[in-house]
Amino acid sequence: MNAQIFDISAYSVIIIMIGLLLWYKSYFLDELPEFSKHTLDMLRQPLEDGKIRISRVKYSVEYPADFMLIASMNPCPCGYYNHPTRQCTCSPGAISRYLGHVSGPLLDRFDIQVQILPVSYADMCSTAPQESSAAIRERVMNARQIQLDRFAADSSNSGIFSNSQMTSAQIRRYATPDADGKALLGEAMERLQLSARAYSRILKVARTIADMESSPTVSAVHIAEAIGYRTLDRSSWGT
Ligand SMILES: [Zn+2]
Repeated sequence: MNAQIFDISAYSVIIIMIGLLLWYKSYFLDELPEFSKHTLDMLRQPLEDGKIRISRVKYSVEYPADFMLIASMNPCPCGYYNHPTRQCTCSPGAISRYLGHVSGPLLDRFDIQVQILPVSYADMCSTAPQESSAAIRERVMNARQIQLDRFAADSSNSGIFSNSQMTSAQIRRYATPDADGKALLGEAMERLQLSARAYSRILKVARTIADMESSPTVSAVHIAEAIGYRTLDRSSWGT
């Protein structure tokens, strides 16, 4: 029984909203479709603006609400859609209804949507050397410093210091990919029918991936990786 529980939870689809301010609060919503759709949709405004506005007849107040939202959900009601060894028993309609509990506009606001596959026994037992957490932290801190330097030197900068906060003009200035990257992104936009919001989020994530490699250029390989983090944008999901 424990093995089954582990298997299902390991196969959850993890959706990650990265990148607002690292020291602002992070929120984790487990089993995202179990929350009320109305409640989830109320997150759309703060996710977009980093603020919450409350308006009444005589007054209106605004509170800061920059936060990082992390959420998880199963890929389908039975939990085995796209599973490498188990058979999903859900109909396309059942999968569609399950995913429908989370609105498209809300999903669109997640920068990164990743499908987590179960870890194989061989991988669990592997003694092959892995990159340490300390080494990964070093790369992350380096990427953060690159962003701090970038926006500190930007004359139009209005207090931002991370790629996720870039305006449209800054995305054009700092995250425009090379020719191959542009062609790849254009093809993906058409094939996956991505939204304008997904387009700018892919460019921000690609800029961050390039920063992780200390690459001044956003190239096709960075764009490809960022597109790969839009799992739930794919229209083939559940069909
Ligand atoms: Zn299923």
